[in-house]
Amino acid sequence: MMPMVSASIDTVALRHNLSVVRDHAPGTRVMAVVKANAYGHGLGPVATALGEADAFAVARLDEGLLLRAAGILKPIVLLEGVFDREQLEVAVAAGFELVVHVPEQIELLRTLAPGARCTVWLKLDSGMNRLGFKGRAFALAWAALQDLAPVRLPVGLFTHFGNADARDPGDTLAQLQCFQEATGLLGGERCLANSAGLLNFPAARGDWVRPGLLLYGVSPLPDSTGADLGLRAVMTLQSRVIAVKDVAAGERVGYGGTWTATRRTRLAVAAVGYGDGYPRSVGAGAPVLVGGARAPLAGRVSMDMIGIDVTDAKIAPRLGDPVVLWGPQLPVEEIARWAGTVPYELLCGISQRVAVELR
Ligand SMILES: *Cc1c(COP(=O)(O)O)cnc(C)c1O
Repeated sequence: MMPMVSASIDTVALRHNLSVVRDHAPGTRVMAVVKANAYGHGLGPVATALGEADAFAVARLDEGLLLRAAGILKPIVLLEGVFDREQLEVAVAAGFELVVHVPEQIELLRTLAPGARCTVWLKLDSGMNRLGFKGRAFALAWAALQDLAPVRLPVGLFTHFGNADARDPGDTLAQLQCFQEATGLLGGERCLANSAGLLNFPAARGDWVRPGLLLYGVSPLPDSTGADLGLRAVMTLQSRVIAVKDVAAGERVGYGGTWTATRRTRLAVAAVGYGDGYPRSVGAGAPVLVGGARAPLAGRVSMDMIGIDVTDAKIAPRLGDPVVLWGPQLPVEEIARWAGTVPYELLCGISQRVAVELR
């Protein structure tokens, strides 16, 4: 039975995108970021398809455990680290690598049994002011870790960019300089760049890069699409036409009656809405593909449905025809602009009602 709404996942495209990342960052290892259910694409299947990655990164412990349960044996990095004794023990038993960004996490590491072994990445706050130690606190944290028997030495050196997609490189160059000043003489592997960082700042590639979005075939840079970067969109969000009707000029369509037909209009109704993660903020006029051709939304997105103006469609839509909300032929970057958000939010926002299927 075919589901009404599906997110079909192109694993060949995933692997292609990993190879594009490797072309952009030759000689560095790739920590594939698969947090938030692999940006909505399905954690286990994506990690399995990306088996050639050198490591995986997730935000939280439970995501790491799901990866192990999916049979992933590669290194797994917890980007936020752990926050209590129980999490620490579970993480060490699972062999996870931990980002350490607050002093409390160093105190937690002190409670490990002397025989335990743990790989850690010490995170510098180089200017984003989210996670990490700043300046002298970073140096003190680094020194404290040297004396902890369970911590493998040298510790990894880690930071994150807050603005690497900006046209003005100033913020990232300042973050890079801060990182170099804080870590210059220290041993240990370096990991700095997210997708935008590895594209825009060759000097930030370090020993490891940490791409997320690029792997899914989506551009992190403004006014560009994954295709412009040689990537292939991995997810196609798709539904079907469930009604076709004509409305007279002057009739209004959808909740609130905010859209009025200016002419006799042929309307297709498709079974997808904000209950599936297709955002309500994508307003009338936004494009969808009906039978492979673009047509604009008419009226508001409802929970389970959208209306589409197909008056100008060359081939009259029929019940059951596929409707694509985003995919290789309709970049999610473009739909994100319609919704006033970033493609990240659309991808990881698809709901439980959507069947995620490998192809
Ligand atoms: C999510 C995340 C990434 C990946 O970012 P992209 O922009 O998707 O490449 C890298 N590092 C950290 C710390 C993250 O939280």
